[in-house]
Amino acid sequence: KRVADPVLQIEELDKRFGGIVAVDGASFAVERGSITGLIGPNGAGKSTTFNCITGVHRPDGGSVVFDGTDITGESPERIANRGLVRTFQIARELPEMTVLENVMLGPKGQLGESIWRSVAPIARGNVIEQEEELRDQAWETLEFFEIDHLAEEYAGNLSGGQRKLLELARALSTDPEMLLLDEPMAGVNPSLERKLLDRIHDLQEEGYSFLLVEHDMDVIMEHCEHVVVMHQGQVLAEGPPATIKSNEEVIEAYLGG
Ligand code: ADP
Ligand code: MG
Repeated sequence: KRVADPVLQIEELDKRFGGIVAVDGASFAVERGSITGLIGPNGAGKSTTFNCITGVHRPDGGSVVFDGTDITGESPERIANRGLVRTFQIARELPEMTVLENVMLGPKGQLGESIWRSVAPIARGNVIEQEEELRDQAWETLEFFEIDHLAEEYAGNLSGGQRKLLELARALSTDPEMLLLDEPMAGVNPSLERKLLDRIHDLQEEGYSFLLVEHDMDVIMEHCEHVVVMHQGQVLAEGPPATIKSNEEVIEAYLGG
């Protein structure tokens, strides 16, 4: 349970929706530079935990500490500006904009609008420079994910797997320190999945930290250093993948639904 150098610390997190207790006193930490897996059966509270961490929901109790700073209840935009960025379980690209424009805009509802707001007041000459810089960065990101050949395609025309890559590219466009990925591999074909995982490892080598919600146990076991298991809003177990895999309670939670 102790983490030497935590980038993210969740303490006693609570979130209720009316009578539903979605997150119930969950505590865990993410080691800086790690890929930490967050698993658990459907309805365990994983997405809600993400929403509480990234400011989409205000938690009813508990705290979220990022890089040593208490960020509990801050706005999604402020949290993204701090370098903590997420992707959504359902990709949120803008279908009527091109892939390049989507990456230039960044993740909608998190940092996207603020980039344009910060561009807007700048003197006319600089707007063009700024836009060119944004465009160059977006191209680099597209090349990194090997979707640069799709730059001028409308995002709405992408396959499910390509949309997942775009979702990650948009999150990365803000130059974050930590990424929370909510089922990034769902609906992605095996070759794209391999590509996505390779990119995640490349980014890890550059120093990024990851919290990864993923249903595929093989992916979790192979790619995460540390695994946190949620069940009914609580942290049921955590530890290295090998320990988690053979944990009786974890097996029960999955089989018992
Ligand atoms: P997971 O991502 O692990 O599948 P969720 O966090 O999505 O689980 O959901 C946890 C519980 O909270 C579920 O019972 C779900 O129905 C409920 N829940 C999640 N979001 C909302 C919401 N916005 N309003 C009401 N109930 C919600
Ligand atoms: Mg979910």
